[in-house]
Amino acid sequence: MIPVYKPAIGTKEKKYVNECLDEGWISSRGKFIEQFEQSFSAFTGVNYSTSVCNGTVALHLALIGLGIGVEDEIIVPTFTYIASINSIMQVGAKPVYVDSLHDTWQMDPSAIASKISAKTKAIMVVHLYGYPCDMDAITKIANQHGLLIIEDCAESFGTYYKKQHTGTFGDIATFSFFGNKTITTGEGGMVCCKSADVYKNICKLKNQGVSKDREYWHDTLAYNYRMTNICAAIGLAQLESAAEIIKNKRIIALAYSQAFKDIPVVFHAESDDVVHSFWMCSIAVESESIRNELRSFLKAAEIETRPGFVPAHLLPHTMTQETFPVAEKLSATVINLPSWPDMSNIDMNRIISTIKKFFATYNKDNMLSTEHADGSYIR
Ligand SMILES: *Cc1c(COP(=O)(O)O)cnc(C)c1O
Repeated sequence: MIPVYKPAIGTKEKKYVNECLDEGWISSRGKFIEQFEQSFSAFTGVNYSTSVCNGTVALHLALIGLGIGVEDEIIVPTFTYIASINSIMQVGAKPVYVDSLHDTWQMDPSAIASKISAKTKAIMVVHLYGYPCDMDAITKIANQHGLLIIEDCAESFGTYYKKQHTGTFGDIATFSFFGNKTITTGEGGMVCCKSADVYKNICKLKNQGVSKDREYWHDTLAYNYRMTNICAAIGLAQLESAAEIIKNKRIIALAYSQAFKDIPVVFHAESDDVVHSFWMCSIAVESESIRNELRSFLKAAEIETRPGFVPAHLLPHTMTQETFPVAEKLSATVINLPSWPDMSNIDMNRIISTIKKFFATYNKDNMLSTEHADGSYIR
């Protein structure tokens, strides 16, 4: 089976982890924590970085750190991974959904203004699949209405908008280092802050709210969201190989984009002013039935794929009665293809030729019978 993802772990990761094990610094103290955080700030150009144990708690801390809570409204794309929405609900705030853009698959800036109310505190942008949101347009709206910007960069390490790394536009940004993310620590995350005060507050909140000057003095509800030195050791090694990882992913993306020119597949491509990190090399096909047939065909050929996310407004605990046509269409027609950096040319060619073979033998009449077969969330 060719998997959708597989982390690129080298000898440096093992060397650094062994240092932790040999020296006994296996918990959340140790030299790699600071080195990883500082190198991460240097790589991305953010002001302050603090490591945490996953990307979901990174979002939770970001919201608390900005003072967002009960009754506040956060504008967020419905087409995202559930962690973005769950974190908003965890602080008692309300996610207010907007649709996505058909071309870039990112949050539609023109849909934001009509969703702003007296309770709106922030816009949470999510740079999906390695492509950045339209930050000029979104920053303009946020400034006009005095809203904060939170960037969920879990999928956008190595992604640039107008030569600026994602995570440097908003008031706060979060990253994930889950095993299938562009750089990984196994489980892990980072919170990146524009202001020193927010950064200090987040550092305190992730560490049981303990006072810096008085032992066992806790004056606020807080968390243990710390990253371990072992994870940071892996993260530092990953950062040191990041340029290579991204280069290899871009080579794969280029091969896909050239291969799909003459078949009815839209590759999620790069465009002007944008550096796409291709976290997931993705395609959109014409309909949900074709999507399902193609995924089955690839599965039978031992090629793993993933469907697009189910929009939050259609999931049981985050549902609304609204309709978001672009998000629903993307959810039904997107396929994430194998995108791991160390994939061989042989695997790559097998995936491409299997997709081409599918469309060469594709018969519309056969497809119709499966229309909406598993599409209960399609209206
Ligand atoms: C992966 C991901 C997260 C959550 O990260 P974890 O480290 O898995 O908790 C949040 N948002 C988006 C968009 C993601 O893809």
